[in-house]
Amino acid sequence: MVFVWNRNNCSGGFSVENHQVQFGTKAVWAGEKDVLVHGASQVPVIVSVAYTYEDMDHWYDVARGKKPGHIYGRNTNPTVQAFEEKVRELEGAEAATSFSTGMAAISNTLYTFLRPGDRVVTIKDTYGGTNKIFTEFLPEMGVEVVLCNTGNHEEMIAEVKKGCKILYLESPTNPTVKITDIERMAKTGKEAGALVVVDNTFATPVNQNPLQLGADLVIHSATKFLGGHADALGGVVCGAKELVEKIYHYREINGATLDPWAAYLLLRGMKTLKLRVKQQEKNAEAIARWLLKQELVEEVFYPGLETHVNHEIAKKQMRGFGGMLSFSLKGGMDAVRILLPKLKYANRAANLGAVETTYGPARTTSHVECTPEERKAVGIAEGLVRISAGIEDTEDLIADLEQAFAHLKEQLEVSAAESGKAGS
Ligand SMILES: *Cc1c(COP(=O)(O)O)cnc(C)c1O
Repeated sequence: MVFVWNRNNCSGGFSVENHQVQFGTKAVWAGEKDVLVHGASQVPVIVSVAYTYEDMDHWYDVARGKKPGHIYGRNTNPTVQAFEEKVRELEGAEAATSFSTGMAAISNTLYTFLRPGDRVVTIKDTYGGTNKIFTEFLPEMGVEVVLCNTGNHEEMIAEVKKGCKILYLESPTNPTVKITDIERMAKTGKEAGALVVVDNTFATPVNQNPLQLGADLVIHSATKFLGGHADALGGVVCGAKELVEKIYHYREINGATLDPWAAYLLLRGMKTLKLRVKQQEKNAEAIARWLLKQELVEEVFYPGLETHVNHEIAKKQMRGFGGMLSFSLKGGMDAVRILLPKLKYANRAANLGAVETTYGPARTTSHVECTPEERKAVGIAEGLVRISAGIEDTEDLIADLEQAFAHLKEQLEVSAAESGKAGS
């Protein structure tokens, strides 16, 4: 029996008696029932900032959390709660709370639990913004942060055993899709008394549930795959009620609240989450295998490839390998400059997880704030391109790559011939 939580405990659960409801069904139906009014079949966007009460005692009871209801939009909102409820179901969590962005979810979670003198163990390859919190803001607050080499479990275990308040993981990572064994690290973290937090944005709950692997909290940038249409920002944290209530309290006071319009768009997007992710990973794998065969490609990174360093761990903890991959071109950034503008079915943009296939060089997207030396240190070649596979038909994406690579080859031959001439 799943305990259904929200601030006022007013939301109904989602289950069918004697039957285990599957992911796709939950994605469509979960979380919505209590917010449907006037027989509406679709979730209304309730924009009201405050809620009105005729009975002063009733108001007082709601304000103290004794009765279900809403008081003020910075705290709770029915549309926003429907979004939280849906994600909570999909992650199989006791509780969930939401934020204005993925970074707000991450920063609010860290700031809820960390105090001066605390120690955090994490990996070098966290999302760019998260990495800035670890390298800039937390040290300024007197929190010690240890950045381990991503995928080096022995190093991480040794650091966790020295004691830490939070073990913070992300798997797969951005942009080289490195994998950490979540179950193994969660066990180590728990034994050391740490809170284990996992950013599950890349995997999505379709393919990975960190809470089931032993993590305490799972975070999403809902801006990416959950929303799926690159038209709304949002973030969410799921876990045990006791932990999520603390994070909720931090957020209700500090104010990084999810907007009801954004919550509506994210909710609508989530209905097709499973369908999208399945097509995205079909495309990602096809693109990865096609890229492997290209002579102009140096390396391909995709957890579904047998050549991936941690393919076995990925296979163990993921139900599918997701829609994210990356590759490096032999010609470095000069080759990237020729290749990317030639693609027809591609957004060249900083986002990911959308229905459109999206390409971005690491040095202009995830690692724009790093120096070339820093990028090199985490294995990011200057010619590395991240791909977020969209839901287009696979053949079309491959045909698009074929014509763009043919153009690149031609251009490289022309410039080789020209420099040959210039040299003679
Ligand atoms: C985008 C992203 C974030 C930050 O989310 P925003 O919604 O942009 O604030 C955090 N983690 C990962 C893995 C991301 O891809």
